[in-house]
Amino acid sequence: MNAAEETQILDAIAKWLERDVRPKARELEKKDEYPEAMVQTMKELGLFGATIPQEYGGLGLPASTYAKIVAQISEVWMSLTGIFNSHLIMAAAVARYGTDAQKKRFLPKFASGEIRGGLALTEPDCGTDLQAIRTRAVKDGKDYVVNGTKTWISNGIKGSCFALLVKTDPAASPRHKGMTMFLAEKGKGFRVSKKMEKLGYKGIDSAELIFEDYRVPAENLIGGEEGKGFHHAIGGLELGRINVAARGVGVAYAALKDSVAYAQVRKTFGKPICEHQAIQLKLGEMATRCEAARLLVENAARAYDAGERCDMEAGMAKYFASEAALENSIEAVRIHGGYGYSTEFNVERYYRDAPLMCIGEGTNEMQRIIIAKQLIARNPA
Ligand SMILES: Cc1cc2nc3c(=O)[nH]c(=O)nc-3n(C[C@H](O)[C@H](O)[C@H](O)COP(=O)(O)OP(=O)(O)OC[C@H]3O[C@@H](n4cnc5c(N)ncnc54)[C@H](O)[C@@H]3O)c2cc1C
Repeated sequence: MNAAEETQILDAIAKWLERDVRPKARELEKKDEYPEAMVQTMKELGLFGATIPQEYGGLGLPASTYAKIVAQISEVWMSLTGIFNSHLIMAAAVARYGTDAQKKRFLPKFASGEIRGGLALTEPDCGTDLQAIRTRAVKDGKDYVVNGTKTWISNGIKGSCFALLVKTDPAASPRHKGMTMFLAEKGKGFRVSKKMEKLGYKGIDSAELIFEDYRVPAENLIGGEEGKGFHHAIGGLELGRINVAARGVGVAYAALKDSVAYAQVRKTFGKPICEHQAIQLKLGEMATRCEAARLLVENAARAYDAGERCDMEAGMAKYFASEAALENSIEAVRIHGGYGYSTEFNVERYYRDAPLMCIGEGTNEMQRIIIAKQLIARNPA
């Protein structure tokens, strides 16, 4: 992808954001309403195939361009990026580890957005410790029979297909050898039991999914071989973390830009508040966090595109950018004073949306542990 092509895509998205998203985001978010019309345009823009290889109908974008798109959209309404991100991680698992038949069958429909979905890993009793999952799949003829519960699944209500992580051998040691991933399409025995009510990240559906004697054909086992599911799940995390980091960049910039604008028009003691040093200190820190977060994301995406190992880089980007979003959003609330607490301004939304990015795709506690472990592994004494 050359610079001109990248600019063309970013320009088309910028036009859509200003025309259709910015004017409606606050209202939809207040009602926690799924943005159907925006999803339709996202399909037309090719976002559901953004990182799917071109041979399967996707745009085949590098992570570096993808991250810029995610940051750009998140600056206006972060929730929208969740609608295609976990969908693309599911697609990446098929593109990387799937059989030829699975790639031909699923990827074109994922790319067009005809089939949409996400990742079903987390369970009520475990998220970080994924190897403790209890959802079970037992082989029965040409099918596997699945029983269990998944929770917090993004796109769980509106999506129809999920990369579902299960145990095929609960007694395996180490535990990950008993884990397998399927492409589970909604059908008999697979139901949504509840919509999760959230602090922020509204508009996108997060749901609990229940599997009761759900039959998934053996041909939907990703890669065709049991015992590789954990590997498949964590294989998508680098791209997932770059995505969450890019969302953080978008929200951090949104908080900064709203604050820079507001601080010039709000006056106290006869001058705009941007002329008070206390506000300048905040703006200076916020802007620096934005730039640092953006550069960390670019660095991780560059390494990812070059095929280099980038768990540490993606972890640093995810950790720093999500914390930047959280810190900038609370500073934006403070700079807006009482209006920062009002739903008439966007900064309270940034403040409710930002914590998700500190939790999803591996909590920030885990990111720092990953960074430290990599530091030691890469620098033996
Ligand atoms: C809005 C939203 C959308 C989500 N979307 C999806 C989705 O699409 N698909 C999906 O599968 N999941 C999804 N999740 C789940 C998310 O990935 C998990 O919430 C996350 O991985 C954390 O798991 P947990 O909630 O079980 O927390 P826990 O694992 O119970 O962790 C609780 C706390 O303990 C800390 N902790 C845990 N283990 C350690 C350790 N070894 N060392 C130090 N600290 C530790 C954690 O950092 C955290 O602070 C979503 C969550 C939310 C809130």
